[in-house]
Amino acid sequence: MSTATLSPSDVLAKYQPVIGLEVHVQLLTRTKAFCGCINQYGGEPNTHCCPVCLGLPGALPVLNRQAVEFAVLASTALHCTVNEDSVFARKNYFYPDSPKGYQISQFDKPLAENGWMDVSDGNGGTRRIGITRLHMEEDAGKSVHDGFSDSANRTYIDLNRCGTPLVEIVSEPDLRTPEEAYEYLTKLKEILLYTGVSDCNMEEGSLRCDANISVMLKGAEQYGTKAEVKNVNSFRFIRDALHFEIERQIDVVESGGRVVQESRLYNSAECRTYSMRSKEAAHDYRYFPEPDLPSLHVNAAWRDAILVNLPELPEARRARMVADYDLSVQDAATIANSRAFADEFETAAKQAKSAKRVANLLLGELIGRLNAAGIELAQSPVSMPGIVQAADLLEDGKLSSKQLKGLFDVCFETREDFAAVYEREKPEQISDTGAIETMIDEVIAANPKQLEQYRGGKKTVSAFFVGQVMRLSKGQANPALLNELVVKKLDIA
Ligand SMILES: [Zn+2]
Repeated sequence: MSTATLSPSDVLAKYQPVIGLEVHVQLLTRTKAFCGCINQYGGEPNTHCCPVCLGLPGALPVLNRQAVEFAVLASTALHCTVNEDSVFARKNYFYPDSPKGYQISQFDKPLAENGWMDVSDGNGGTRRIGITRLHMEEDAGKSVHDGFSDSANRTYIDLNRCGTPLVEIVSEPDLRTPEEAYEYLTKLKEILLYTGVSDCNMEEGSLRCDANISVMLKGAEQYGTKAEVKNVNSFRFIRDALHFEIERQIDVVESGGRVVQESRLYNSAECRTYSMRSKEAAHDYRYFPEPDLPSLHVNAAWRDAILVNLPELPEARRARMVADYDLSVQDAATIANSRAFADEFETAAKQAKSAKRVANLLLGELIGRLNAAGIELAQSPVSMPGIVQAADLLEDGKLSSKQLKGLFDVCFETREDFAAVYEREKPEQISDTGAIETMIDEVIAANPKQLEQYRGGKKTVSAFFVGQVMRLSKGQANPALLNELVVKKLDIA
């Protein structure tokens, strides 16, 4: 990243950044928050609208039950306490893409409060980040500034997004580094995807983040004046914007100035933030309870019925997969990254003779080929039953890993499933004990140094001999038989 004036690292070290995040998440409901209009990204402008979401006089909002259920799921997954009673409020402001002149939100009585999320502390432990609140609200429409022949002097309004259900998740100012903020956001997104409440598509604006950032001298009691970086559309940009802001604010303070409380925008091309408008503190939204909606009552029975749909969450799932399938922490993390992928893995792992082989095939052979071909798991030529079959052939020693790689290559070339390719190509396998022993003798004779090591007690050297014989057999030696015979031969050699 580049900054105008780089503070020396000893100056940076004097200061403590303080970061809080506000994340807006669109909920994946079928219809909008307070009307029956379809909740869908895009569409012909101003076609997903009705008198309610256009704010026409006399139109009355009716709260979407599914939106509440999604919000309760997300709250619980983030360890928040769901309040039995919460209240919708009008947040008044004038903006062209908000035809009502106010946004229905929640103010002093939000749906849920007092949650937390753990992030790593960089020393193998964790640090707990408080989640102040999760409240429900509605999205505004969009101002369209370009794409029209007269865009140079006109802005158009598309109200399709008006009334899309949102939750806003507000963290405590507990984050201390841009890296922690990045991890918090990554984990938050993972949890929201797992619970299925949002698609978290940042390009389409389903997940948007504002960051509050200030700096203070280390050991100081009082936070510095904060700036808000608004509407950054990727986690990486948030991290970069925070790095920029920390240095900018330190430079301001170090040169005797005062940080101004303001909103700033991040320019990713220049890797810097710009002042958007000042005197943000003077904003008065004149909140008052929404007179057209009763207070929201989520009793224990309803809450319990909603939570039946709360899935096992990523962190718990990773830990369980390490225990159940003997996976490494890293492999479990990669697999549990996506709930769909983890589901596929677990189904296959239960059918195969070795779960670990399934994991190795997925991570070692499949993912790389999928990425190279630019296709999703769902479109993979090698199906999950194909993975199970391949894993079992490996486990039974009926296929060497080299042969398997060759078969997978064919699958990706011809877009056929593994079963078909295996049936046709049935790679030759040498299972003749005598033939394999001859090759082993040859390899042992050619490698006296390694034989000495083996005799000296370094038993792992047997893998070297297995590899050499496998190469000599052009990958055709029966691996199970080969392993067995190599050890037998080495022990008497
Ligand atoms: Zn509507």
